[in-house]
Amino acid sequence: MDRVDRDRIQIGTHSFEKYLQREAIKSRVHELGVDLMVDYHDKNPLFLVVLNGAFMFAADLVRACDFAHEVEFVKMASYGGLNASGEMKRLIGLPDKMEDRHILIVEDIVDTGKTIGAVREDLLQHKPASVEVVTLLLKPDCLECTFESPYVGFEIPPAFVVGYGLDIDGQARNFADIYQLKKGK
Ligand code: 5GP
Repeated sequence: MDRVDRDRIQIGTHSFEKYLQREAIKSRVHELGVDLMVDYHDKNPLFLVVLNGAFMFAADLVRACDFAHEVEFVKMASYGGLNASGEMKRLIGLPDKMEDRHILIVEDIVDTGKTIGAVREDLLQHKPASVEVVTLLLKPDCLECTFESPYVGFEIPPAFVVGYGLDIDGQARNFADIYQLKKGK
């Protein structure tokens, strides 16, 4: 049983309040597993988990997926160069053989959509059979590019969230619930 269960948390100077209960997360993750089962049960897909934030979601998601699949972990790293949006990013840790594989990118949250856009671009170089994104959270009002996926856990408002793998300055990943930054904090 999780021992960490609070209605409000304080991380440094920031106050957060509970926004998504662990039970709601659990049941939505189960639904995503069922949806993926319908679409991928005979495709042996490769789940590419984008670290660090997606680790907790991914652990629950793959256990909700009762069909053959593989799991690998990737990370975004900076090229060191700059483009209009700031840092240029690339994926590190990609497995060798992705040609003709069905790839499911597992993300914690899509905000502007730039990170997932960069991930997708990198992957397409490897000629996979298909690429889809499974994201726990999506902030539709923050999107700066087109983003479409049938596998979105929750659409949420633009406020900053932590918990269930999501951090603020490396903290708060351990909470089983998701917390939202209190307005004006
Ligand atoms: P995007 O490239 O879509 O703007 O941002 C994606 C990344 O920004 C996420 O993978 C995550 O690391 C971070 N991010 C965006 N919104 C939030 C948020 O509300 N909480 C946390 N903890 N990270 C966020």
